Amino acid sequence: MTIALTGGLVADGTGAEPVAATVLVDSGRIAAVLPPGDQPSGAEVIDATGNIVAPGFIDLHSHADFSLQSTPDAPTQLYQGVTTLVTGNCGWSPFPITDLAALRAGTAFLDPKHDWSWRDVDGFARRALESKVEIREIRDDIGRLHHAFPLRPGMSREELRGRAGAADERVFGHLLGVLEAEGVVKAERDKVRLTTHEVRLGPEQQKIVDRLEAEFLSAAAAPPSPEEAMARAGLPGDEEHELFQVLVESRRLVRVKESLFFHATALETIQDKLVAMLRERKEIGPADIKDLLGISRKYAIPLLEFFDGRRVTARVGERRVLRGGSTAG
Ligand SMILES: [Zn+2]
Repeated sequence: MTIALTGGLVADGTGAEPVAATVLVDSGRIAAVLPPGDQPSGAEVIDATGNIVAPGFIDLHSHADFSLQSTPDAPTQLYQGVTTLVTGNCGWSPFPITDLAALRAGTAFLDPKHDWSWRDVDGFARRALESKVEIREIRDDIGRLHHAFPLRPGMSREELRGRAGAADERVFGHLLGVLEAEGVVKAERDKVRLTTHEVRLGPEQQKIVDRLEAEFLSAAAAPPSPEEAMARAGLPGDEEHELFQVLVESRRLVRVKESLFFHATALETIQDKLVAMLRERKEIGPADIKDLLGISRKYAIPLLEFFDGRRVTARVGERRVLRGGSTAG
């Protein structure tokens, strides 16, 4: 792509007086400096009227070698017009490494996020380049997955790490941290998403999701199987279906055991009732929860095990007691 910078005063850095001119940039390089007013057709025009047009500045004293890995796009330098950095001139640089502990301790305030996986200048340069490439690849990969699975709010961190060539956990975590610090991705528990990604359901999809949710809400303590609920909502499939997963991912449906899901609100109500009963009776058996909720053993046993797992109850033989006795409902 060709860009024409027009209307500006060109200071070329040689010390000559600035002159009015049009600068033509082609594929990132200055292709020509033309008399003012010349505008080749087809070029994208950037109006620089009132501005100085100059080559990038050289920053003669920086410590960017310690920050480029976590901030590879170097926006603070670019916004100032700096395009070339000189580093290492106060006797500090992240290579060669002969005493890592001392170097790390003495430079931690500059950028504590280094993985220090190099030893010499070649290794450093490779690592800097790698970070930049890897960071972009990870970002693009998340974008591709969002495109392929638009209804998933986030992508599995482990799946992404696998796609990044099963990157070392520490390095991968570092790269994700960089993207997160830049506000490009958001990591929540084991899921990662681009900050720009939002799950948007079409009207038909929304109807099905609402219908599914209503099934589980009204069924309360005796929910249908995912297949049954899906069939009633007019869709073939099971809990793997992306519309079912919308409810699971948003934690409106909770997996209690294998293919047994309850609505989160129903579970809260069940827990309240269970705790109230345990406060009164001190201990209960499976038959008591069946009577309490009017449900069969098929639901009662997984529910009791689920609340054991949530540390609401503790198991004593076949009976349950309140754990710690202080669990609020
Ligand atoms: Zn310095």
